[in-house]
Amino acid sequence: MPVSPADLDGADRLSAFRDRFVIDDDLVAYLDGNSLGRLPKATQERLAAFVREEWGGRLIRGWSESWVDLPVAVGDELGAALLGAASGQTVIADSTSVNLYKLLHAAAGVRPGRDEIVIDVTNFPTDRYLVESVASARGMTVRWLEPDLVENVTPDVLATALGERTAVVVLSHVDYRSGTLLDLPGLTDAVHAAGGVVVWDLCHSAGVVPIALDAAAVDFAVGCTYKYVNAGPGAPAFAYVAARHLADARQPIAGWWSAADLFAMSDTYETSPTIRRMLSGTPSVSGILAVQEGVRLIAEAGVDAIRAKSEALTAYAIELLDAAGLEIVTPREPGLRGSHVTVRHAEAREVAAGMIERGVVPDFREPDLIRLGLSPLSTSYAEVAAGVAVLVDCAAR
Ligand SMILES: *Cc1c(COP(=O)(O)O)cnc(C)c1O
Repeated sequence: MPVSPADLDGADRLSAFRDRFVIDDDLVAYLDGNSLGRLPKATQERLAAFVREEWGGRLIRGWSESWVDLPVAVGDELGAALLGAASGQTVIADSTSVNLYKLLHAAAGVRPGRDEIVIDVTNFPTDRYLVESVASARGMTVRWLEPDLVENVTPDVLATALGERTAVVVLSHVDYRSGTLLDLPGLTDAVHAAGGVVVWDLCHSAGVVPIALDAAAVDFAVGCTYKYVNAGPGAPAFAYVAARHLADARQPIAGWWSAADLFAMSDTYETSPTIRRMLSGTPSVSGILAVQEGVRLIAEAGVDAIRAKSEALTAYAIELLDAAGLEIVTPREPGLRGSHVTVRHAEAREVAAGMIERGVVPDFREPDLIRLGLSPLSTSYAEVAAGVAVLVDCAAR
């Protein structure tokens, strides 16, 4: 007899973490934690206390008492717990898109004399659009990789574009559609062997896949915090710059928060020697506090334990989808996928709408994909079983 979802939940060492989230919706299954993670209870309390005591009570004094240091302090916490990054290389700021814009310019700037930016056609829209925008502003050329969606960017595919003109390569660690997990250390080495630098987009891996940026000698990285870090809609993103590039990394939105002395209000601009040079303007304090709570929850569970459950949850979903004969476009080898499973269906839009009507939230990606995002701290096996059952039913109509 197949193992029941209740038995799987009973044996799950992370099952108690589900109670750390606010779950008072009327859903049968929330399978979209890869687009917007659930709200941690600790965040709800922290933000209420912040509004009441810090904002309400300290007013402007809050900046000098603690807020001014938050972008770097929480960046360090996130870097240590999620990215394998030593302190002083990560900041919390702005959105992923804005950070990507800054880091693309910084990355191109550390490879003067080279004029190509490499990116794949399967990459997330904002990454592709910003690469085109930065290339055009700097008089550079975009070299497009055209990988298969599921195999995605392999060392062989990347090798076709690398050369002495390669300045920057932009890659997403986990493909947002297929869920394919790229070989971050191997591809980073290949870019370095060609003399370029790499910018990794970690939006779909931060908090759910172990990442070792320092060990892999990654140059630059960005990622968001509202997916697997559960920091809420529009929560600020992170930016990582390897210490060895810091002195040369110049970004184009060099506002007062990136200056050497924020409160000197100096006539002339001098860029901060630290990772603060990647900041631009006044950050969202409430947003950063939500990031801190999300990071602490992940650190408490441990990214390795989260990854183990992610592999098991995605394997379970694949087993159920296979049994129903649905087409899966996510790698079957656990080591080659992130934490979502994607189904291809000719009527995906209608199927996804039917699922939502029945209390199961997946997400639909044009033109024919349905993603099931499994967020190990809050998604139960029972939720996966119930969600897939509804998907199978809707797909059979
Ligand atoms: C979600 C996501 C983004 C989002 O960028 P925003 O600036 O937060 O809108 C960027 N890149 C990838 C790969 C994503 O998955």
